[in-house]
Amino acid sequence: MNCPECGAFETLCKARFDEFLVFEFSDMGYGAVHNLTVATYMIQHSSKMSIEGWLYERDLLREFIVEKKSPSLIRQQVKDAVDSGKRTFKFKSKDGLPVINKSTWTKTILDVRAENREVYCADVIAWARAVLEEATAI
Ligand SMILES: [Zn+2]
Repeated sequence: MNCPECGAFETLCKARFDEFLVFEFSDMGYGAVHNLTVATYMIQHSSKMSIEGWLYERDLLREFIVEKKSPSLIRQQVKDAVDSGKRTFKFKSKDGLPVINKSTWTKTILDVRAENREVYCADVIAWARAVLEEATAI
């Protein structure tokens, strides 16, 4: 069965996501786009999220893609908000129901190639850009 949320073939998205996180944690060249990978994946898999969490991830993606804030700057902002207790909502879904009603996307994590850092980062950015555009139109 294809993924009911992102539409990925045989629901291979979850395994691919886990695999990519390993790359990102073990190689800084891959890790450069870590926040994008997580935010984009979560936006496509909204059943894991609260509505506040989903909107927050979408804003984060916009800051990267449109406002072109650096990953390190955003990481710091996120950390500051958590440390100061400013972020009071829960990220995790309580009921496991999707926040959005969408299961077809132009790109999924399966479109990201990982043979080297350059290709990987470029493909993650292209995936994130496509998802932001489609998630903004909802
Ligand atoms: Zn999926």
